[in-house]
Amino acid sequence: MTFVPANDGIAKLKPYQPGKPMSELERELGLTDIVKLASNENPLGCSEKVQQAVAAELAEIGRYPDGGGYILKAQVAKQFAVGLDQITLGNGSNDLLEMFARAFVSDKDSVVYSQHAFAVYALVTQAINAQAIEVPAKGFAHDLDAMAAAVQDNTKLIFIANPNNPTGTWFEEAEFERFMQKVPSHVLVVLDEAYVEYFPENFNSLKFLSQYDNLIISRTLSKCYGLAALRVGFALASAEVTDYLNRIRQPFNVNHLAMVAGVAALQDEDFIEKSRVTNKAGMAQLEAGFKALGLNYVPSRANFLLVDVQADPAQTFNALLKEGVIVRPVGIPNHLRVSIGTEAENAKFLTALAKVLSLEATA
Ligand SMILES: *Cc1c(COP(=O)(O)O)cnc(C)c1O
Repeated sequence: MTFVPANDGIAKLKPYQPGKPMSELERELGLTDIVKLASNENPLGCSEKVQQAVAAELAEIGRYPDGGGYILKAQVAKQFAVGLDQITLGNGSNDLLEMFARAFVSDKDSVVYSQHAFAVYALVTQAINAQAIEVPAKGFAHDLDAMAAAVQDNTKLIFIANPNNPTGTWFEEAEFERFMQKVPSHVLVVLDEAYVEYFPENFNSLKFLSQYDNLIISRTLSKCYGLAALRVGFALASAEVTDYLNRIRQPFNVNHLAMVAGVAALQDEDFIEKSRVTNKAGMAQLEAGFKALGLNYVPSRANFLLVDVQADPAQTFNALLKEGVIVRPVGIPNHLRVSIGTEAENAKFLTALAKVLSLEATA
């Protein structure tokens, strides 16, 4: 057989490394009581209303889903006061991030994103062999002024995350507005708001949609809404941008059970509120735990914290695995990212962390 070389962009691609699944660690170490704080999932799981809604639709599995995604789009349109023609559904927002790049960027173009940003931005840029312009972070945060200044003639797309993963850093509306005013109107700005539900008072992106035709808002139901396994996300943009996205969207990219679950999840405000309260309490618990251990962390407006373990992250990660705790090394020296869990999960993590770092809590 002759060797068939892949496209240039693909040949150099290093695939995304997902968080270690609990089942894998169970098999490897024979542990049972494992705590996974590695993928920013909702520690409460999903709403019971979602489970009931999905159970009621199981008999429909034999049919193709609605390729237009009407029920989910109608819920999104109502809830976020946008037109149906402004919504693109995604198989998780990762699917959308890839669509943005494929629809608007060629291998002659460039994409701007920040250092320490979500790993998928670099991946989708590389996959289409476009030029990546990675702008140095300011501390751990996006430097929006520098990102606007980094735009070149061939720049088609800018990825920004607010709050950012894996750092948890965020920016305010005034800073974003200043940024949008500097970015040329033919450059698309993707505002990835995967964690926006946790601190909604922080930022109202929707009002910018009517102001800027080059803005795309990306949302996911994987985090606060608790639907990570089902893969549901949606993008909000102008009707023109949305039309292009829907030309390349696979018609059945969001399956029927995911859409039914999505509608139920979006409607269950109580579950979101409970998730917020759990997250705030867990964040306070972890912050207090880190302080007692003398460890610095990056203040966060998401459902995770980036902590300076003052040690090699890979070694610390592996030592924590042996204690039955899965966290996430994210390529930042001395730091690990830990998702905020339930009170018991956070406590187990803090105990394990103190043990593997040989630290004593003071306080
Ligand atoms: C988790 C995450 C996503 C996407 O998650 P999906 O499960 O694909 O919807 C997107 N952006 C950021 C910044 C994330 O952290």
